[in-house]
Amino acid sequence: MSIAPAETATASHCPYCALQCAMTLTDSAGAISVGARDFPTNRGGLCKKGWTSAELLSSPDRIVEPMLRQPDGGFAAASWEDALDLVADRLSALRAEHGADSVGVFGGGGLTNEKAYQLGKFTRVALGSSRIDYNGRFCMSSAAAAGNRAFGLDRGLPFRLEDLGAAETILLLGSNVAQTMPPFVAHLEGARAAGGLIVVDPRRSATARLTEDGAGMHVQPAPGTDLALLLGLTHLVIAERLADREYLAARTTGFEALRRSVGEWWPERTQEHTGVPVWQLREIARRLAAGRGTYILTGRGVEQHEDGTATATAAINLSLALGLVGTAHSGYGTLTGQGNGQGGREHGQKCDQLPGYRKITDGAAREHVAAVWGVDPQSLPGPGVPAVELLSSMGRAGGIRCLLVHGSNVVVSAPNASRVREGLAALDFLVVCDFFFSETAQFADVVLPVTQWAEEEGTMTSLEGRVIRRRRAIDPPPGVRSELWILRELARRLGSPSTFSDDPAVVFDELCRASEGGTADYSGLSHELLDSGVAAYWPYPTGSAGTPRLFLDRFAHADGLARIVAVRSRSSAPPESGTLTLVTGRLLEHYQSGAQTRRVPELAAAQPVARVQLHPATADRLAITDGAEVELANARGSVRCVAELTPDIRPDTVFLPFHFAGDECANLLTSDATDPVSGMPEFKRTIVTVRAVQRE
Ligand code: SF4
Repeated sequence: MSIAPAETATASHCPYCALQCAMTLTDSAGAISVGARDFPTNRGGLCKKGWTSAELLSSPDRIVEPMLRQPDGGFAAASWEDALDLVADRLSALRAEHGADSVGVFGGGGLTNEKAYQLGKFTRVALGSSRIDYNGRFCMSSAAAAGNRAFGLDRGLPFRLEDLGAAETILLLGSNVAQTMPPFVAHLEGARAAGGLIVVDPRRSATARLTEDGAGMHVQPAPGTDLALLLGLTHLVIAERLADREYLAARTTGFEALRRSVGEWWPERTQEHTGVPVWQLREIARRLAAGRGTYILTGRGVEQHEDGTATATAAINLSLALGLVGTAHSGYGTLTGQGNGQGGREHGQKCDQLPGYRKITDGAAREHVAAVWGVDPQSLPGPGVPAVELLSSMGRAGGIRCLLVHGSNVVVSAPNASRVREGLAALDFLVVCDFFFSETAQFADVVLPVTQWAEEEGTMTSLEGRVIRRRRAIDPPPGVRSELWILRELARRLGSPSTFSDDPAVVFDELCRASEGGTADYSGLSHELLDSGVAAYWPYPTGSAGTPRLFLDRFAHADGLARIVAVRSRSSAPPESGTLTLVTGRLLEHYQSGAQTRRVPELAAAQPVARVQLHPATADRLAITDGAEVELANARGSVRCVAELTPDIRPDTVFLPFHFAGDECANLLTSDATDPVSGMPEFKRTIVTVRAVQRE
């Protein structure tokens, strides 16, 4: 009689988005199955990405040994020793010939806190380069810049997600949570029941449909006019004496400048600019002021603009004018998208920051972090350049000549994809660490195979600033290594003045010490404490119990006051009549560049190709039928995809998901113009032409 192998169950979290839904991973004879697990954010729920996530582990596409580019252009397997020796030799030679800043590092918002921290340290200490940034620049940078400026601290949700349940009114701008993170919808039920869910989206998205049947209101502005909408709402709040003057006087500075700056945004002008009727503007303003428990939440729809920081600031200003922020039952927040989009921006992956979310230009911060690393503060490089600028410098005079990519697929996810492809091809040397042969890996000289989520220990920080444990549930394939091990080995070969551990618990302890005194202070945390099940919301300084709700007594600026920063709409003209504006975004079935989810059979079968949403009237004008092959084009490039006709989109807008590669890649069309404050590219306002493709 054979005895069935024992099953072991491990409590962990989903590998994908920032909701970080809890799940149980059961290892049965080397195969992982996913089970639901109760947790405050997902309450036992998972979306289809979460349910199928174990398929990533056993995908036949896994890379299981280092791969080196061959003279004939193909790849051949190599030993780790040979691959790492080659990488270290080339890095040393390039640094010696062209300087340390000729080597760049591109990180990811899906890396664990430990990896994000170690990548920042590796770049600045082992490489001596300032050239590091990450794909969160395309995601959270505008909201982060606005939050830091207004509050002195950037935590996506400065309250617990569960707190939303008691809200009577929620204004949700530019986020389709019903598709991107479905378990989130449960937290909107209180506002829906009170008739107070207000969704702002140019599309009648799955989330916008939640407002139907008396649950709230869908507001459908012209694409790219979110800033004007927010200025117009703030005008109304002030003009109709709905602002909380007592709160403004006690807790903020800058209100008078705001009052003057929104004076020109009277309702009729806002309607003309945005297409949102005056009655709806008035109704929103009154509802926001009347609700007992009111939250304003923003997502990428309003933040991924050339004026994204100004738009996020306008949302914050509206929240402050209403007296919502830092109170017990109301607030403002931004919904982080990537799995560790929050932690990814706290530990030194950003070009201008050191661990603890500290400015790299801050002398005291440099001294503190240098002491933890055991190096001279003078030896640390200064600020680098943001992601788009880093990528744009590839192959250009004075730019980077070598790039190390970790946890990112820039060929698909970065704007102006043709330029990114040209830049990667022009590099002297490209190293990609990934578990699949992503579109970016196909340009590499060396591809290093790395462990996945369920094969490693670590921590992630969810969209509510809660630090959670990612746990190893299964052994990785024998030829695969963790990024921590790779960085340790490379640092040793490069003669780094500081040591690098590959033990996640040791790295986390070091991260916590490096963060001490910063705004994102983790110094009271450890893997051991997190394993005890404590709900750890940062800041979590030594001796504290964490901070579930921020700003109740004071904001993080030295004087304790929030900054209202008056912002202006750079363009006063609505989009030209007759033009089509492309908005890019996400689908339920796919995640980010699709490098992972396009390899999960069930998800790929549900959404196998890029489909562009068009209004039937637009399609009629262009003689396009449902299901027809179409081309979207502008001066930067063209995309081939399938037409999907739907009345859920405005006639002046088309929507294309950005998860697809090759000639379906939406970012062939987007511009690499960026927000001057945050470095955020413009993903939500791209003028395109659309035509049916005539088959020969
Ligand atoms: Fe995973 Fe996000 Fe889906 Fe939850 S909502 S299962 S975290 S992808």
